[in-house]
Amino acid sequence: MDYGALGFKCGVEIHQRLDTHKLFCNCYSNPSEKRSNAENDFVIRRRIRPAAGELGKVDEAARFEAAKGRETVYFVPEDEACLVECDDEPPHAPNQEALIEACRIAKALKMKPVHEVEFMRKTVADGSAVSGFQRTALLATDGELEGVGIQTLCLEEESAGIVDGGYRLDRLGIPLVEIATAPEIRDGEHCRKICESLGRMLRSNAKVQRGLGSIRQDINVSIAKGARVEIKGVQELKTIPELVENEVLRQQSLATPREETRRTVGTKTEFMRPLPGKARMYPETDVPPVLLARYWEDAGKPKSFESAVKGLEARGLNPQLAEKMARSPQKLFLTLTEEMRVDATVAATTLLETKKELERKGVKPSDECIKFVLGAFKKGKLVKSAIPVALEKGCTNEDCLKKNDLTVLSGAELARAANEFSGAGPKAFGLAMKKYRLRADPKQLKAAFEKELHG
Ligand SMILES: [Zn+2]
Repeated sequence: MDYGALGFKCGVEIHQRLDTHKLFCNCYSNPSEKRSNAENDFVIRRRIRPAAGELGKVDEAARFEAAKGRETVYFVPEDEACLVECDDEPPHAPNQEALIEACRIAKALKMKPVHEVEFMRKTVADGSAVSGFQRTALLATDGELEGVGIQTLCLEEESAGIVDGGYRLDRLGIPLVEIATAPEIRDGEHCRKICESLGRMLRSNAKVQRGLGSIRQDINVSIAKGARVEIKGVQELKTIPELVENEVLRQQSLATPREETRRTVGTKTEFMRPLPGKARMYPETDVPPVLLARYWEDAGKPKSFESAVKGLEARGLNPQLAEKMARSPQKLFLTLTEEMRVDATVAATTLLETKKELERKGVKPSDECIKFVLGAFKKGKLVKSAIPVALEKGCTNEDCLKKNDLTVLSGAELARAANEFSGAGPKAFGLAMKKYRLRADPKQLKAAFEKELHG
């Protein structure tokens, strides 16, 4: 399947439970490890009514669930849930350890922290939260993993787990890190790989819960003629390529696709509810804002940093450059070195040093320009010392190189250059290099001189 031609867009949201106490109370629970038939000490019953959100609208997904008008039963194991989970006591301050763990994950993804953490309420009307909402807060934005943009990292509350006849409150309120990638995933296999890498990064950098259900992925898929569809709660990574392909095929076969949330059934999906909209968020006034700086600092260095540096060293970067690169966005670096096979040191030097120097002069070379210029260098159409000049001129095609006198000298031109300076004695090579610095590779020019002198 040619995903590019279909206008395929795909991003994932990963939800990972942290192995700390709950986000807004001091209960601890790890349902993925525990006795499934733990005592339910008491039972409460609630009915959900939809209310208008911050924008004055009732959310479609909330209306859909409320229309079912059902009463929900909650089982409360007393040592793993308290009055906070029952919505009979206001939330405590957010768990500090959870904030620190989430910050370390954001650092490993090279994200930028927010100044102040503001918890919001997100309408959840399927009954999985006693209060009818889930608390969530944005912690960091704008990161990257293996060339795929990471848009947001949120810290939120886990929902209650479904059991026979209702929900169990042991799971409700466990801190959950939600990581959303940009819609930059190329196909189903790429999607599986990114989910796998995210999982590995989480396990090596933070105190996370393990086991069934402790990590889940929602996959957003759309094609040009389709609509955005969210496939919810994918757990088995190996099913992802087929799930994605089946969703593309399904959208292709529909006359009028609509936006919706779907749940997985094997490698196929079925309708679950309409896609929730913006109307579902409103401010949580019971939790005061938190300044993030202290937690960000306490989080220390992500553990994967060392291995990232080692990986870059293995690609040929010196230790200093490798460490600098590990701290910087790598998307363009990976395109240059993996897809275009540009020498890693040249690519890193260009991105980390040359580009910065030009920016200090007020010149901002575009990604397109950097790709063209380093591509030309790779093909032998440009010498290394001409790279900064071609970037400064903003070259994106060969005409620009010609216009600025940057095209590399041909064999005949090199011979002519050697001949031109052959009478200059011991200084000949130096003078020729001075004149043709931006057009001749020193080694090639040297060879031309040898030929000129010794035939
Ligand atoms: Zn509690």
